[in-house]
Amino acid sequence: MSKIIDGKAVAEKVLAECVDEIQQLKNNGVTPGLAVVLVGEDPASKVYVGSKVRKCAELGLHSRKIELPADASQADVLAVVQELNEDPLIHGILVQSPPPPQIDEDAIVKAIDPAKDVDGFHPENVAKLALEDASGFVPCTPSGCMRLLKEAGVETSGAEAVVIGRSMIVGKPMALLLMSKQGNATVTVAHSRTKELAEVCRRADIIVAAIGMPEFVTADMVKEGAAVIDVGINRVEDPSAKRGYRLVGDVAYDEVAAKCSAITPVPGGVGPMTIAMLISNTIKAARQSVS
Ligand code: NDP
Repeated sequence: MSKIIDGKAVAEKVLAECVDEIQQLKNNGVTPGLAVVLVGEDPASKVYVGSKVRKCAELGLHSRKIELPADASQADVLAVVQELNEDPLIHGILVQSPPPPQIDEDAIVKAIDPAKDVDGFHPENVAKLALEDASGFVPCTPSGCMRLLKEAGVETSGAEAVVIGRSMIVGKPMALLLMSKQGNATVTVAHSRTKELAEVCRRADIIVAAIGMPEFVTADMVKEGAAVIDVGINRVEDPSAKRGYRLVGDVAYDEVAAKCSAITPVPGGVGPMTIAMLISNTIKAARQSVS
C-alpha cells in the first residue's frame, strides 16, 4: 500500500470505468446529460462549473451550462430547474453552491427531481443513503473518499473512524457511508462542540477531516499507523507563490504523513474524486432513467 493516496490516479480509474458505461448507454441510444446551473459571478464557482462541463465534453457526455445573473430571483432559478426536470436529454442537474444570498438553496435542492439529483442533496436521496437504498444518489465528495479508502487498501470493517465535521455535504454522509453495511466502521462524528477532540482523534484508525480550517489536524491528534483523508481545501497567503496563495488541507500534511499509514495530499487527493463521482452519478441517473 502506498502511503500517499493518489486521488488523481484513482479518479482516472473511475473515469475509465465511466467511459465503458457511457459507450454501452450510447449503444442503446442514450447519451447521459448533465446540466450545471450557475447563479452569479463567484470566481471559484465559475472555475468548478467550467471544469465539470469540460470533463463532460472530454468523455462524450451531453452537457448544458446555464448561467443566471447575480440578481436572479428565486422564481428565475426555480423556472430553470423545472425546465431541466422536464428535459429528457438531461439526466443530472446541479445548481452550483453557494448561490447569491437572495436564493433559498434548500428550496432549490428540493425542487430538483430526485431522480436527477446527482449531487445527492435532495431529502429523498439523503433518506435513501440512511436507508442504504442503492437506487439513491450519494454526495460526490464522501463517496469519493470511500473509493479512495478502498483503492488504498484501507480496511474500514471493524475500524474506529472519526469524521471531523457534520455538514450535509461531507461529514454526515461520510459518517453514514462508513457505518453502513458497506463500510462497517465504528464511527464517531466530531464537530465544534466536541470535547477533548485530540483524544477522540487519537483513538481513530481512520480520520476524515472536513472542517475548513487550514492544517487543523496535527500529528499529536493522530495515532501511529492511522489512515487520514483530508477533505479540506483552504487558501493560505503565500507571497512566494505565483498567485500569492497556496492550497492546504485541514491536516498538517508533513507532520501527519510522517506518522500515518496512508494520507491524501491537498491538492491531488479528494478534490479530483469529487468530479469523477459526479460523472459516475450522472451515468447512473441515465441508466436508471431507462431501466
Ligand atoms: P462546513 O463549514 O459546512 O462544515 C465544517 C464542519 O467543521 C462543521 O460541522 C463544524 O462544526 C466543524 N468544525 C468547525 N470548527 C471546528 C473545530 N474547531 N473543531 C471541530 N470541528 C469543527 O464545511 P464543509 O463540510 O462544506 O467543507 C469542509 C471542508 O471541505 C472545506 O475546507 C471545504 O472547502 C472542503 N470541501 C472540499 C471538497 C472537495 O471536493 N475536496 C468538497 C466539499 C468541501 P459545527 O457543525 O459545530 O459548526
